[in-house]
Amino acid sequence: MTDTAPIESTAPPTWQKSACILCECNCGIEVQVQGRSLAKIRGDKSHPASEGYTCEKALRLDHYQSRTERLTSPLRRRPDGSYEEIDWETAIREIAERLNAVRSQHGGDKIFFYGGGGQGNHLGGTYGKALQAALGVKYTSNALAQEKTGEMYVDGRIYGGHTKGDFEHAEVVVFVGKNPWQSHSFPRARPVLKAMAADPNRTMVVIDPRRSETAAMADIHLQVRPGTDAWCLAALGAILVQEDLLDHAFLDAHTTGIEAVLAAYKTIDVADFAARCSVDEALLRETARRIGTAESACTYEDLGVQQAPHSTLNSYLNKMLWIFTGNFAKQGGMFVHSTFAPVAGSSGPMASGAGGSGPRKKTALNRVTDIGGRIGVNAPAFFPDLVAGRLAAVAQPTVAKVAGGSSAAPKANRGGGRRTPVTNARIIAGLVPCNSIAEEILNDHPDRLRALWIESSNPAHSLSDSDSFRRAMRAVELSVVVDIAMTETAREADYVLPASSQFEKWECTFFNVDFPKNVFHLRAPVMAPLEGTLAEPEIYARVIRALDVVPDSVLAPLRRAARRGRTQFALAFFASVAADPKLMGLAPYVLYETLGPTLPDGAANTSSLWGVSQLCAMAYPESVGRAGFTGSGFAAGEKLFERILTGEGVAFTVDDYDDAWTYVKRPDRRFTVEIPELIERLEALATEPSSWTSEEFPYVLSAGERRAFTANTIIRDPSWRRRDADGALRISADDASALGVAPGDRLRIVTERGRAVAIVEVSEMMQAGHVSLPNGMGVDHADGAPGISPNELTSLGNRDFLAGTPLHKYVPARLERIDA
Ligand code: SF4
Repeated sequence: MTDTAPIESTAPPTWQKSACILCECNCGIEVQVQGRSLAKIRGDKSHPASEGYTCEKALRLDHYQSRTERLTSPLRRRPDGSYEEIDWETAIREIAERLNAVRSQHGGDKIFFYGGGGQGNHLGGTYGKALQAALGVKYTSNALAQEKTGEMYVDGRIYGGHTKGDFEHAEVVVFVGKNPWQSHSFPRARPVLKAMAADPNRTMVVIDPRRSETAAMADIHLQVRPGTDAWCLAALGAILVQEDLLDHAFLDAHTTGIEAVLAAYKTIDVADFAARCSVDEALLRETARRIGTAESACTYEDLGVQQAPHSTLNSYLNKMLWIFTGNFAKQGGMFVHSTFAPVAGSSGPMASGAGGSGPRKKTALNRVTDIGGRIGVNAPAFFPDLVAGRLAAVAQPTVAKVAGGSSAAPKANRGGGRRTPVTNARIIAGLVPCNSIAEEILNDHPDRLRALWIESSNPAHSLSDSDSFRRAMRAVELSVVVDIAMTETAREADYVLPASSQFEKWECTFFNVDFPKNVFHLRAPVMAPLEGTLAEPEIYARVIRALDVVPDSVLAPLRRAARRGRTQFALAFFASVAADPKLMGLAPYVLYETLGPTLPDGAANTSSLWGVSQLCAMAYPESVGRAGFTGSGFAAGEKLFERILTGEGVAFTVDDYDDAWTYVKRPDRRFTVEIPELIERLEALATEPSSWTSEEFPYVLSAGERRAFTANTIIRDPSWRRRDADGALRISADDASALGVAPGDRLRIVTERGRAVAIVEVSEMMQAGHVSLPNGMGVDHADGAPGISPNELTSLGNRDFLAGTPLHKYVPARLERIDA
């Protein structure tokens, strides 16, 4: 390990394009590099999404790049728990041998993959899928499975895609458990919020127990009692139904199963539900009428409700607000969008067609989509639209052959949904619930997981009940962590492999979720890799080589074709996978080994994006064409790939509002709104309790609040925080008074899982009985580990009934004075 202190450089500083890696917006930035430091950082005005905007966090990215204690050698754990440096060749050979041993003895399905990138680094994960295919891995997960899988389930059931809103143009915007002032999630969030707040003809609604920064600037703040969002959302929907504020023409034309949904809402006692969530009934009625009569409305739900009681139900109830009022595929409404490459698998069991919500029959098109998921690319959504000519002549039989013959195709969320082998947890979007991972290991079940591969993620810190995850890592027969630093997860692993930083390699994210213009940004490195580190694609390639799963007789002809040109390569590549469908799962590796060496400026890492570009152009030919990438055969995909290789943000699809219907993955393009298990839960709200605190634990702790200077654990240097260095415990003035504490005092916070001591901040944001701790604190660094690691206080069992998402925003807790 070494501390990479900045070194002097004589090179004149130039502005180089890159992106902020601290949230999913990935705002475009320009940087000046001195030595190994990001000496100057500014917003990139030419970026097609962020247009020069950044928040305060981007300007302190050098704390990630040059003030992180980096790893510069592979490490192997000794029996006494200490680590020794080993060379790359030894590390790769031993890891491959041990992976092979686990596969031989227990099966490849006992090797579990977690991660594949965080907020800014997904490119390596595409090659991770090739290693999964090489090993026969069946079970994977990432942080989405503790945040978004409930929403993904609902999305999958209703329309089979991901939705977002047109916040810039909507007359009414509803933020549901969402504070975009701090957590952003859409381009230029703060200017958009300010414009909304300043316009008297527009209405901003916030549903949040906290008086967050966004709630403070909203026209209507529905300040629910913690954990009662479902009653609030259900009451809003009930008012729309009972006062007939519905868009009947939309519901008749575009939905299936609406009668059962409306029947459930008709029975709701709005006054009772208003009392349950502690929001004035008149204010609820005013809000629902504003939504129901607006020209346009859209909503954004986030972790405030997704990690709270009724997580999946909350998502369903939220979506009904804009569906009831017909706010889809129009300016200011909601939309399903294009996807450059998926960050997860299919989003849930889908309806079989116009009439049902049962298991979906696996069609050739479904299988094509499966294949896209396996290779980390976006498979053709509209197979019949594959471009004519040689591409169709080669690619179509290739895909058809794979679709018909792949016994290894994943079964993610088909036929009612996959389950985990030990605890029978529901797998959504191909992701094992994060709260189930340790449970799938810490037992003596013959099908328990036996090995862990963790890339660019820190689950021992970020998942519920950190101690359980640490024990799980020590219980498996092999654990490998790939990261740039010795994280809390890395220090439990058998092997730690040092990766190059996100500014030292080609990198990108697949959080490309906008409409009508959707943007992808491949970032070029702004400096050479730190000596001793490797980019993840090379790490994966070395392991796959060591496993010896693709013979040179396959690779050599493709290498020759790549040297002759990319059209020849495309024909040869598709012909190869047509001849041997097993290669499809290994495609990113095959591309890296064959196309990679021919790419400019050492951009072999981007090889998988050639495949992504081709399939994107096949999937959305009209939208990609409107973005300027046209031509027959492979031409459009080639143009797109060449454009993204410039290292600038690129609009890869441009749509009209009505095109949102083309992204609805239903044969009849209708929304299947009846989800019986969620309607059942909606009906149960009338009688079930709406508080889960107790005499022993009378407070509700929100564990993991996003604040001005929190960013998961990617920045480990505590000095990057200009404020709130200790990650204070926010409590209301009433609670502070009752406890007899003042700002700066210390309180012990106790949950069923753990205890910790926090510095008190008395905050007007909090209501009595509700306290919060920020995310990303308690991270080890030579300069200390200030703050509380929130998951030392959370429990595995506190989770959603359906998606298994942890209820981090509702952790029953007790506060004790330190002198008590
Ligand atoms: S909004 Fe997100 S991506 Fe943009 S500068 Fe802030 S933290 Fe970075």
